[in-house]
Amino acid sequence: MDLISRIPTGPIRDKWDRHRFELKLVNPANKRKYTILVVGSGLAGGSAAATLSELGYNVKCFCFQDSPRRAHSIAAQGGINAAKNYPNDGDSIWRLFYDTVKGGDFRAREANVYRLAQISVNIIDQCVAQGVPFAREYGGLLANRSFGGAQVSRTFYARGQTGQQLLLGAYQALEKEIAKGGVTMFPRTEMLDVIVIGGQARGIVVRDMVTGKVSSHLGDAVVLGTGGYGNVFYLSTNAKGSNATAIWRAHKRGALFGNPCYTQIHPTCIPASGEYQSKLTLMSESLRNDGRVWVPKKKGDHRAPNEIPENERDYFLERKYPSFGNLAPRDIASRAAKEVCDEGRGVGPGGLGVYLDFADAIKRLGEARIRERYGNLFEMYQRITDENPYKIPMRIYPAVHYTMGGLWVDYNLMSTIPGLFVIGEANFSDHGANRLGASALMQGLADGYFILPYTIGDYLATSRFDRVDAGHAEVGQVERAVDQRVRTLLSINGKRTVDSFHRELGKLMWDKCGMARRAEGLREAIQRIPVLREEFWRDVNVPGSDAELNQALEKAGRVADFLELGELMCRDALHREESCGGHFREEHQTEDGEAKRDDEHFAYVAAWEWRGDGQEPCLHKEPLAFENVKLATRSYK
Ligand SMILES: Cc1cc2nc3c(=O)[nH]c(=O)nc-3n(C[C@H](O)[C@H](O)[C@H](O)COP(=O)(O)OP(=O)(O)OC[C@H]3O[C@@H](n4cnc5c(N)ncnc54)[C@H](O)[C@@H]3O)c2cc1C
Repeated sequence: MDLISRIPTGPIRDKWDRHRFELKLVNPANKRKYTILVVGSGLAGGSAAATLSELGYNVKCFCFQDSPRRAHSIAAQGGINAAKNYPNDGDSIWRLFYDTVKGGDFRAREANVYRLAQISVNIIDQCVAQGVPFAREYGGLLANRSFGGAQVSRTFYARGQTGQQLLLGAYQALEKEIAKGGVTMFPRTEMLDVIVIGGQARGIVVRDMVTGKVSSHLGDAVVLGTGGYGNVFYLSTNAKGSNATAIWRAHKRGALFGNPCYTQIHPTCIPASGEYQSKLTLMSESLRNDGRVWVPKKKGDHRAPNEIPENERDYFLERKYPSFGNLAPRDIASRAAKEVCDEGRGVGPGGLGVYLDFADAIKRLGEARIRERYGNLFEMYQRITDENPYKIPMRIYPAVHYTMGGLWVDYNLMSTIPGLFVIGEANFSDHGANRLGASALMQGLADGYFILPYTIGDYLATSRFDRVDAGHAEVGQVERAVDQRVRTLLSINGKRTVDSFHRELGKLMWDKCGMARRAEGLREAIQRIPVLREEFWRDVNVPGSDAELNQALEKAGRVADFLELGELMCRDALHREESCGGHFREEHQTEDGEAKRDDEHFAYVAAWEWRGDGQEPCLHKEPLAFENVKLATRSYK
């Protein structure tokens, strides 16, 4: 299979403008003749569905929550980047582009990243026009703060609720289109397969989660904005419902999976408190603007933090990375935290924690100012830990947070199945091996508001569509397969709960394919996952029926997919004999413990093809060219 990235030729600054001009348009009067199925109503899917409907297309939008405004995007806390340079501190589109390519450890496509930086400025204008209440300075101008991997302040925010406010913006745009009749919304509806006819994505099979009815929807193109798959690790900062089913089933129908092993571990999460915890909570990276990260210098120092004098503290990020300090990128900050904990200097129960201390900032700025900036995050922390972070330093530890991998897409955001577009966290596109903070919201909204609406038009204008109706043999076949799978899950009647399988898989993934990986451990996981999968299909217990709301059944389908995806992630991690960004192979590190890339052999996107149950997947490579940012060892020192 040839991977055609469709990156336009010419100077990087002009690529997107020229490409937009060259894309074919659909005549306004013809747009209503096309039906586009958008799966997902988060920032990516919601913005795409609203925009496509505003353009005149007939849109159907699906989500598994009871309302589109409950998509996981609502959880985003810290902010969204844009190269507006309002603080006049030296930012530019080029700098955002450069920081993102470097931040991704040179494993992203330059052309995509440059386009993202260009569009970032439009996103802020769009959201302000929608009334998104971004934080403002005293004089009324939009405020900015800093995020990791950048030495400028370019992050726009709404306290610690940026995702919620942005989603309300997209949601009201979507609701307007629903009211107008341009979008038909299907909440509580789970997509369980893609229908591919004549090589084109022409529909989806869904299950009504309340009645259990399985049905299909047909159209001219399908868009997946279905989010990330961090929950393969069971414990993550993602919403409990986030899952890989939509992209995984599309993968099994022919969409290649890009860089599945690239997972982001976020350094500032509340440490897990016990074996049976089901969810981890993020403390936004924005806190590292004012919080200082430290551990005691001495091993096994169990004194209360306030009793440890300044000269016995190790502010290890400031020490190791003096130019970026506490705002070192996530992969680097996470590894540094793991390292001090591995040395026995971690704090809190089990020694798996480091302090994030606001004492200096409170002394400098006053408690009121800190409360204004991070009040809701401090409150959340106190509710969970019963400790007051205004008085005692927060305890944080790295946790799974985001997946840079996802379905492979070309520059038009189209997967290897013609007519199947993938946007937001569900695709692999812009972040390389490590995503910089505040750039997922930027990418989701760039894809949904500003890229897909152009590129999908080109696909529609240049493709031929045969008439397809519900009577088509392929439609019936996919529907029956979905129905059969549901029935099988219910009929196994075994002894183990779905959660027990999920927890076991998650632990295996975290131990063998988490913050640090070794060939030996990955090989072991590749042996053990199929055994666990076999046990799942033999011994899982899914109570209830399929004719009612049944969360165990929903979870079972998703965990079955995680049990396949997990294996692919390990295979990808095993084949990539280098360390880059979130992918840290212990065998490949510098003397001072930093990631050691191998550009000669691994400067490519790994795109995996599904070849059937029990078959090894096939690896395809998209070489990455760096013509504008020189390939260099990443340094934040
Ligand atoms: C706690 C937390 C804080 C974060 N903070 C920030 C931040 O400050 N800045 C930043 O840039 N990023 C942040 N991120 C990352 C960012 O929030 C996500 O990457 C982004 O919101 C993903 O948006 P999305 O639209 O791609 O997917 P989602 O918001 O996950 O939406 C997925 C949608 O797809 C639907 N869906 C999924 N599968 C199916 C299916 N099979 N059938 C039907 N519907 C389906 C869901 O119902 C939902 O509507 C944060 C992430 C977390 C976990």
